[in-house]
Amino acid sequence: MAVRRWAVVPAAGRGERFGGRTPKQYTPLLGRPVISWSIAALLASRSIEAVVVVLAAGDRRWPSVPEAADRRVSVCIGGARREDSVANALESLAHRAHDSDWVIVHDAARPCLTLEDLRRLMATTRDDPVGGLLATPVPDTLKVDDGKGRCVRTVPREGIWRALTPQMFRYGLLRRALMLCKDRERPVTDEASAIEALGLRPVLVPGRSDNLKLTTSQDREVIEAILRSRRGP
Ligand code: C5P
Repeated sequence: MAVRRWAVVPAAGRGERFGGRTPKQYTPLLGRPVISWSIAALLASRSIEAVVVVLAAGDRRWPSVPEAADRRVSVCIGGARREDSVANALESLAHRAHDSDWVIVHDAARPCLTLEDLRRLMATTRDDPVGGLLATPVPDTLKVDDGKGRCVRTVPREGIWRALTPQMFRYGLLRRALMLCKDRERPVTDEASAIEALGLRPVLVPGRSDNLKLTTSQDREVIEAILRSRRGP
């Protein structure tokens, strides 16, 4: 039986750190919403069977996103936390996906993913029993504050990585990991942390450091500059 690849794009967040009336996944970047860039980056790979986009209940903006019309794209409704949204997407794939299939989870708010990085993630994890994630080593010195704006100590940066998306795990394993974390009420900020809770070690696949997540309005200018530079003259 051939192993297939499914993509999940959690886009059901309110983007509270971003502010403004437009949810951050719909913020326009060079005339296209963030989510459109992020989904297009996945659709660029022909080896992805389908993309499940997870929307907030009552989302009325989605139909105007160009990728909504793509035959490989479907939607489901998200949950209260990001991990609930991802779990809902996995549930919506239950009748199509096998436990050994791959699931590629990519944040709607990360529009700068390149096909080269996506391919490297897929190639590196292809025969891995666990799976992995794009990540980049932390270049800066890290500080811990005292809660009042002063440094308490410095954290050695050796061996510290920034976890990016996509993150890629077997369908059955990821479902089990998310259920375990939910049962234990363990917070899950990314899929890899749920897999780690099972005692497994996801592969860190070095990715581009400009695969940024739109979090605050300051990020927007930088992300637009990155996308513009790739568009060419
Ligand atoms: O808030 P944060 O930037 O960590 O969200 C990462 C991604 O998870 C975003 O694309 C956001 O829309 C999505 N999300 C979700 N469901 C939630 C919360 C966040 O799909 N309940």
